[in-house]
Amino acid sequence: MLKCLHFGIYYAKIYVTVFSASAYKKEEWALDEKIRFMRAAIKEALKAEKADEVPVGAVVVLDGKIVSRAYNKRNTDRDGTAHAEILALKKAGKKLNRWNLTGCDLYVTLEPCAMCAGAAVNSRIKRIFFGAYDKRYGCCGSIMNVTDSGLNHKVEVQGGVMEAECAEMLSSFFKKLRERSKKSEQTN
Ligand SMILES: [Zn+2]
Repeated sequence: MLKCLHFGIYYAKIYVTVFSASAYKKEEWALDEKIRFMRAAIKEALKAEKADEVPVGAVVVLDGKIVSRAYNKRNTDRDGTAHAEILALKKAGKKLNRWNLTGCDLYVTLEPCAMCAGAAVNSRIKRIFFGAYDKRYGCCGSIMNVTDSGLNHKVEVQGGVMEAECAEMLSSFFKKLRERSKKSEQTN
């Protein structure tokens, strides 16, 4: 009887160890995935910077794969709605041949504005992962929360993914911009 109990405890211990190891692995994997996709969004943001646009990039992900990538093209397109998220959602819809992006996640380097958060809700996006917080226009918690405001669809949100890298990209862009305008003021 005692032997049986010992065996029972022994197997229970093995089970707990294996189970928690796999849970840990899953968490680790999710972390890797978040970083991998945010890096892809950062890559897009750098393309925007090259084009002299505010560096914001976004990717849409479905089942662990990138469906679409886009970056801010407000100046290029002369369009106030040409935010990275809107362009990425549009591309994803075309690629998947459906407006309803159920099951898709949106990764973006900056907290979405009211328009983009609204577009994510209307596209039935599952989760939004964003990098830097936007204290002026952010509508995923900073100023207001469009993604969880009692609308018929709720989007899960996690902010601060690779926050330092995403915020640094923006601050160095605006710093360069200020220096450039100072220089042009001096020469004029
Ligand atoms: Zn936006």
